[in-house]
Parts: sequence; C-alpha cells; structure tokens
Amino acid sequence: MFSKIRQMLLISFAGLAAFSAGTCAAQSPGQLEPALDPMPVDQSIAAALRQVSSEHIRANIEKLVSFGTRSTLSAQDPASIAAGRGIGAAREWIKSEFDRYSKDCGGCLAVKTDSFTQEPADRIPQPTVITNVYAVLKGTEAESARRIVLVTGHYDSRNSDNLDIKGAAPGANDDGSGTAVSLECARVLSKMKFPATIIFLTVAGEEQGLNGSAHFAKMAAQMVKDQGWNIEAVLNNDIVGGDKSPEQDHSVVRVFSEGLPAAATDQEIERIRFLGGENDSGSRELARYIADVGRAYDPGVNPVLIFRLDRYLRGGDHYSFNQQGFSAVRFTELREDFHHQHQNVRIEGGIQYGDLPRFVDFDYVARVARLNAATLAELASAPAPPAHVRMLTSKLENDSTLTWDASPGGLATSYEVLWRATSSPQWEHVQKVGNITHVTLPISKDNVIFAVRAVDVQGHPSLPVVPMPER
Ligand SMILES: [Zn+2]
Repeated sequence: MFSKIRQMLLISFAGLAAFSAGTCAAQSPGQLEPALDPMPVDQSIAAALRQVSSEHIRANIEKLVSFGTRSTLSAQDPASIAAGRGIGAAREWIKSEFDRYSKDCGGCLAVKTDSFTQEPADRIPQPTVITNVYAVLKGTEAESARRIVLVTGHYDSRNSDNLDIKGAAPGANDDGSGTAVSLECARVLSKMKFPATIIFLTVAGEEQGLNGSAHFAKMAAQMVKDQGWNIEAVLNNDIVGGDKSPEQDHSVVRVFSEGLPAAATDQEIERIRFLGGENDSGSRELARYIADVGRAYDPGVNPVLIFRLDRYLRGGDHYSFNQQGFSAVRFTELREDFHHQHQNVRIEGGIQYGDLPRFVDFDYVARVARLNAATLAELASAPAPPAHVRMLTSKLENDSTLTWDASPGGLATSYEVLWRATSSPQWEHVQKVGNITHVTLPISKDNVIFAVRAVDVQGHPSLPVVPMPER
C-alpha cells in the first residue's frame, strides 16, 4: 500500500514539474514543435522503409497511365482487358501485383475484390460495376488481428469531361500516386509480421462520387457489428505526386483530418460542445500520431497537419470512412497544379494540360509512402488503445483522476498519460504511469486536455484516447 501511495506521489510530482516547466504557448496548426520526445524507432520498421523504392513507384504509375483511361465508366470487357485499355485492365493488373507480392511472401496476403453494381446516380448514367481491389496482411495474434489499419488510394481517373469514357485520362498524380503508395506499402510490409491486420486498398468510383470507398466502408462497418472487426485508422492518399510546379514544397505533405466527427450523434455533439472536444476527434488523434511517426522515422517529408476535413468544397475517400465512424485522414501534396488535374491532355496558350507522369516527383511519392508505411507498421505493432477511459468528476477538485480498462489483446505493458494546453494543436507532455489503470495528477482537468495511451514492451504507442467524464 505504501509503495502504491509513494508511486502515486512520485507520478504527481513529476507531472507537476513537467507541467510547470512545459511551454504551453499556442502554436498554429502545422507547426511541429511539441515538447514530447518522438516515439522510439523500431529498427525493423526503419529497415523496411529503406526498401521503399521510387523506381517501383515510377514503374507502377507509368503502368497505370498505360491503360489510357481509368474512368470508372470505361471498358471492362474481356477484349479491352486483353488489349490493356480501360479500368478493367487496370483492376486486373493491380490484382496481379498484389498476387505477385503475396507469392514473394509465401502467400501471406489474401488478395480480394469488393465488386458491386452501382445503380445510376449523379455522375453514373447507367448501371456500372465498380470493383475495389485489396490485399489483407492478417495479424499474427488472434485477438489483435481483428484490429485493422488501412491504406487506400483511388485507381480511377478522369479528364475534363467526367462522362468521357474513351479519351485519355492518365491520372498519374490523381490518383496513380495514391494507388502506388498502397501497392508499395503492400510490397514492403508483406515481408514483415504484425500482431494487428493491415489492409492495402485501392478503390474505384472516387471521381463519380466516392462510390467505391463508400461501399467498402459500409461493408467494414457491418463487419464491426457482425464479426468484431475494428478499423482503427484509415490513411487515404490522393494527389501525393508532388507536382513539379515551381512553387511546390517537396519537404512537406498535408494531412487533413475532420474536427467534429461526421458520424457523431446529437448527444455526442452536445458533449463535445460542453467539454471543448472540437479538436479531439479520432481522426485528429490519428493525424497527431502521424506527426509523431514523422518525427521518429524522418521519412524525408514532414506532415503538415491541416485541421479541416478536406480542401475547400472538395472531398475524398477518407470521408466515406469518417461517415461510418472510422478515424481517417487524407494525405495530399502541399500545392496542387490545377492545369494537371481533371484536364484533357492538350497544349493551350503554351501551357501543357493533363495529369501526366512527367509532372510527378517519384522520389516525393516514395517519401510519402515511407511515412504511410511507418504509420501502418507502428499501429499494427502497437497494443489496442485502452478501453473505457474516464475522468472522474464525482467531486469538485483541482486534481485530475483518470481511470481506464486494460488494453485488450495482452500486448500492453504500460500506460502513458498525455496532455496539452487547450489552445495547443499537439500533445505537449507525457507521464509514464506504469502498468496501472488509475492515476491522479495534480493538474486541473479544466485547464488542459488529457488522453491515455497503451504502450508495448518495445515502446510502440497506441492511439491515445481522450477520457469521457464519469460522475
Ligand atoms: Zn483524387
């Protein structure tokens, strides 16, 4: 008993010292100068990142462009597939790539398709078969294997006319680049083993209205209900080619995350309003995690956190997952060149239009792929987040008492409490509390935002969980 009290006091004083000494000045989103040390580097993950190849990425993007158009409405009959034209040929080739990677790892990947007929809709004039292609690297631990982290890009493309099914739509950057990130992550990470499951996804129908990702996300939500799946994180890469416009900054990549969760109920929105939780959606915790991964692994590109769902009046596949209640973010290059997006290939007024491979920086795509692969590998290695995290509020006091249920799955060996000033974008302080599920810190819950995360023996941190109040 005495040692327990002593432990609590030590934790309390250390926490107080850290809080007093910490700098709590507000930073603007995107600045990456938090007080926390980055997560420890796992040398096996670092070695895998060195296998990511800009040469493979270049070859894959050029192959995708070679299908002429990957419009969701384009040909997918056997003759067109055999001729290497249209979205059907692209789909079959992606599948064959995943199959090849799986062969190289002794069949470690389950290669699957999620195919459905989309009835006529806004930008779909007639019933159209849409096929998502994906590979599953199943987790090695039975309970952890139901936890899933997922990377996705859309392999469909378009030109100036969204209904043009024959004209060239190279889609090298949008979104050959994101498709290449999914493929390269699969190639490299399939050589490793993780307790949790990783899904490498490529979807179609994005340009028609996020149809492919919406179908997959709904299927995943059903699997959550029926089979106890849980998708912990979705990384959507869309336009990560690092377009070579003169103003481009190839040292950064934007990471967009929603604030108020799309799937929040009225009751949840009310709680967010009262507790100041606008900046702590699951997607935003994921974005902060990616920033931490970036600091630890130095993939050659810094994530700039944009605290916004997406660019002005534009959307992407991460939103389909947000709508089903999953944490999902979007990676996009800093500065898009709109001469090269959704444009017929042509020269007009001396300007080259069209989404051509010559504008893609393949080294940049490789760096973004490394940031994705490191995030997937860390999360798939880490314990499940602690469950049922609560802030006890039964009495009025200036201390804060947190309690939680042990991380399910048995990987966690200790827990850490994080906190930051309410006006700060990123976690500023961490307190290691050991393998316990209850702690009191001499810091007022009214003045900071707290979270708890689980850590395994090697130091892989889970996603943090912000407490719910409990009387
Ligand atoms: Zn796109």
